[in-house]
Amino acid sequence: MQSRLPEYCDLYQLADKAATMSGNWPIAKMPRLLTMLAADTGEAKAELEFGKKGRTRFIKGSVSVDVEMQCQRCLNPTTVGLKAEFLVALVENESQIEKLPEQFEALITEGRHFLPDVIEDELILAVPIVATHDSQCSDYVKAYEVVPEEYQQEAVGKKPNPFAVLKDLL
Ligand SMILES: [Zn+2]
Repeated sequence: MQSRLPEYCDLYQLADKAATMSGNWPIAKMPRLLTMLAADTGEAKAELEFGKKGRTRFIKGSVSVDVEMQCQRCLNPTTVGLKAEFLVALVENESQIEKLPEQFEALITEGRHFLPDVIEDELILAVPIVATHDSQCSDYVKAYEVVPEEYQQEAVGKKPNPFAVLKDLL
């Protein structure tokens, strides 16, 4: 079983030590991501590699998780696999962002940082604008469709009445 990611870390220190880590973080603890989802179940799995390239400290990583989103065609839940690979440079202020080599995203931080926020940011970027079922929604909808009770009763009421035949005879 994988362990939880650490919470507050000194990112500059981890980069200087060229640390690597892997860990999980529950969806239920990502409030910004949660606003885009239909359920709070699941745990993101992350692999992180800290390091330094020239004077640039960075985090290279990948994160993935299956989440539930509302299908925009049928409005039922659908499972969406979120996956992100990233290369984030750690910078102290905005003026440093311009100097970064192109391949880097930037994270402004003083060092001490809530590490799961990095994961959450990347997952938010990976959320599709519109989620839909891969195949036909109709298969899915049929399985979940419930016939309203009034309709069932009405159907029962329409059964031929055996006395109706007698009435015709009279
Ligand atoms: Zn659907």
